[in-house]
Amino acid sequence: MEFVAIIIVPMLLLMAGAGVLVVSQVSGFVQTNMFNQRQRMSNALIQQYMTQIVAAQSQIFQRAKQLELLSSKLSLSNQELGRLNNMKTKFLSMVVHDVRTPLASIRGFSELLMKKDVGEREKQYLKNIVGSTDQLGHLISDLTDLAMIEAGKLKMEKAVFDFSYVARDILPGITINAQKRGVELMVNPLPEGIMINGDRFRLSQVLMNLLTNAIKFTPVGKRVELTLRAEGSGVGAYVKDTGIGIHPSETKRIFEKFYQAKYQKDEKLRKQGWGLGLSIANEIVRGHKGEMAAVSPGLGRGSTFYFRIPVNSRP
Ligand code: ADP
Repeated sequence: MEFVAIIIVPMLLLMAGAGVLVVSQVSGFVQTNMFNQRQRMSNALIQQYMTQIVAAQSQIFQRAKQLELLSSKLSLSNQELGRLNNMKTKFLSMVVHDVRTPLASIRGFSELLMKKDVGEREKQYLKNIVGSTDQLGHLISDLTDLAMIEAGKLKMEKAVFDFSYVARDILPGITINAQKRGVELMVNPLPEGIMINGDRFRLSQVLMNLLTNAIKFTPVGKRVELTLRAEGSGVGAYVKDTGIGIHPSETKRIFEKFYQAKYQKDEKLRKQGWGLGLSIANEIVRGHKGEMAAVSPGLGRGSTFYFRIPVNSRP
């Protein structure tokens, strides 16, 4: 019995050992196989990515070349634009200068003729000529200002003066204007003794523009109101009218040069202007470190234009 056990046990052990060896060999083979397969797959993926990267690189290169070409074209057209802009500014100031002199002469001689012994009809013709030369003169001075603004040469005086003179200087003329149009002009008491440092003539020009517009865009029988007042460390001028109003989408755009409100239907009024006055006024106020804006409750409901400048506004 002992003998049988001595023979059988080692045999069993031997067989078990062989079994383990076979199993481990099989699993090793399977693992190697999987590893190789994974390796092949990732190699293929890498290959695919590499091809994509190469394609992307060549596309980037092409685009960079196109961009370079475009940028050099752009820089050329920029230079050309700058040259043309200079030419335009020079041309504008030349024309403006050359038109001003004959215009003054036409106006002067027409007024002279009006004083002569001429018939009523001729007098009316002469009045029309004077009116048209005034309109043209206005355009010329707007174009002069525009040319100066574009050339960065709009100069402003520095002097200390009483702010109320911004209105006092122009009120006699503007009152006649309002009367002629049949619009009531109400001037709230002008404050006295508020001294500001700036350009009296230019600031009067701004107020003149606001009042002229307000009278122009207000129907006969309605009212325009002017208020000047001290505000914190500055001053403000307000022109409120009861006229045709402004669409909310246009209260900012009307300060752009050559912009005229599109929602207002009155063609006749539009033709009387060029859309330049407000943009020039805005430049003058900005030159005094101030701000300018328009508010309106909507079309047909009037508007208020105002500007504010700091007292020490050295332009
Ligand atoms: P314009 O000579 O055409 O009046 P402006 O620059 O002074 O040029 O004004 C630009 C536009 O702003 C005008 O054409 C008008 O549409 C609008 N606008 C200016 N003032 C008023 C106002 N008081 N009421 C309504 N619209 C106005």
